[in-house]
Amino acid sequence: MQRFQSYINGEFLDGEARFQSIDPATGDVWADMPEAREADVDNAVNAAERALYEGPWARLTATQRGKLLYKLADLVAANAQKLAELETRDTGKIIRETSAQIAYVADYYRYYAGIADKIEGSYLPIDKPDMDVWLRREPIGVVAMVVPWNSQLFLSAVKIGPALAAGCTMVVKASEDGPAPLLEFARLVHEAGFPAGVVNILTGFGPSCGAALARHPKVAHVAFTGGPETARHIVRNSAENLASTSLELGGKSPFIVFADADFESAANAQVAGIFAATGQSCVAGSRLIVERSVKDAFLSILKRKAEAIRIGAPLDMATEVGPLATKRQQDHVAALVEKSVGSGARLVVGGERPAGNGYYFPPTILDCDGVASPSLTEEFFGPVLSVVSFETEAEALKLANDTRYGLASGVFTQNLTRAHRLMKGIRAGVVWVNTYRAVSPIAPFGGFGLSGHGREGGIAAALDYTRTKTIWLRTSDDPIPDPFVMR
Ligand code: NAD
Repeated sequence: MQRFQSYINGEFLDGEARFQSIDPATGDVWADMPEAREADVDNAVNAAERALYEGPWARLTATQRGKLLYKLADLVAANAQKLAELETRDTGKIIRETSAQIAYVADYYRYYAGIADKIEGSYLPIDKPDMDVWLRREPIGVVAMVVPWNSQLFLSAVKIGPALAAGCTMVVKASEDGPAPLLEFARLVHEAGFPAGVVNILTGFGPSCGAALARHPKVAHVAFTGGPETARHIVRNSAENLASTSLELGGKSPFIVFADADFESAANAQVAGIFAATGQSCVAGSRLIVERSVKDAFLSILKRKAEAIRIGAPLDMATEVGPLATKRQQDHVAALVEKSVGSGARLVVGGERPAGNGYYFPPTILDCDGVASPSLTEEFFGPVLSVVSFETEAEALKLANDTRYGLASGVFTQNLTRAHRLMKGIRAGVVWVNTYRAVSPIAPFGGFGLSGHGREGGIAAALDYTRTKTIWLRTSDDPIPDPFVMR
């Protein structure tokens, strides 16, 4: 059995307790993990605070920080295949996807390496003749990062990269469901030469480890990705330490197809949007909103594509849909499909949990026209698409915005003016037009409403890990006049 360690203050440690990790493709235990509880969390946060104010990190120039980030990027690229295999083994996400995604994660670190010495303060044109006033941009402080199981190296890179560029130190909590890739990534942080305590990586359970981290008095900011219910705990805990928060949460993203769309392309994008990563993607285009006149034609293309998907072992390069990450997730998806069918939704394809030990669930399409199906409002985080149809553009927009989430959206049409109207009208943090699920380190990403707040990616994300300090310098040698008058 493979054994992993946590990384605290530059040391690899066994953790306060241990737990076992399950291979979702077989349901068998495959690895032994370190479980951090309050004491490990406390040690890690204290190490991060020392590194922030006392250690060599605080004395590095921004350019030197950038060089360390470039080194880390190169190490991620060189180890992408190994990290991908670990992620696939521990979470069931197919190797085809993890290997491509982790190779791209290196580019995120490279992007933020370049940003490190471009974070500038400013000089203010102050309204007093004898004063020079500047804004310094300083690291926000010790950052707690809490991530879910899916795409952990990616979801942590969009936090670690900008936070390091800004000069922060951090404690990263890997998900207890599949922590292997992040714990292994800690070895690359070490090899890159980051001083002890700058990046601490541990794992443990939400209530004992995540909560202790989020409410720790020395934490200045919590960067969280996960579900809205957990986000509420994080925000409640931030009432204790008054840490700021950024929240990347779930979605129920609309995917709108008009009659003039290129069907082949739209269908491929819809397959990518809902069945890739076995639907365990925050941006899953889980609500297909299709023009009524082409609904049957479009659904028959989708059905054919869904039936042709190769379901199999996640470590096999030919597999297109692997297992869900956990039994809990498989049970949730199966129960929500059953509840939706019970409410009148009609199964177009899939819907039956297969026999066997792995946590598989087949690509599933539910026709929900005329039905108040829970599948239209609740997040599956699984390979289940709900379909409704519309007559007019106004109706399509109304359906698209009929959600408390607002993470992503897709619009497929050849009509340019209509595309522009929808870009403005859709209430979501991302609108993809004639494409879906495209990401880049250069483009900010984040949600509206229940999908959270704060943006990851882009230059602004690095600025979000800074706080300003205002410096006043009096340039006059004259004595300070009347001390009772504020000037
Ligand atoms: P989750 O909210 O259950 O867990 C996420 C993390 O929070 C885990 O590390 C967990 O241990 C930790 N946690 C749990 N309870 C906690 C507590 N009380 N205090 C602090 N931390 C706690 O999410 P999940 O089920 O692992 O992941 C699926 C969810 O993540 C979905 O809703 C999905 O949409 C969302 N997600 C969002 C994005 C995005 O970028 N917007 C990306 C991926 C996933």
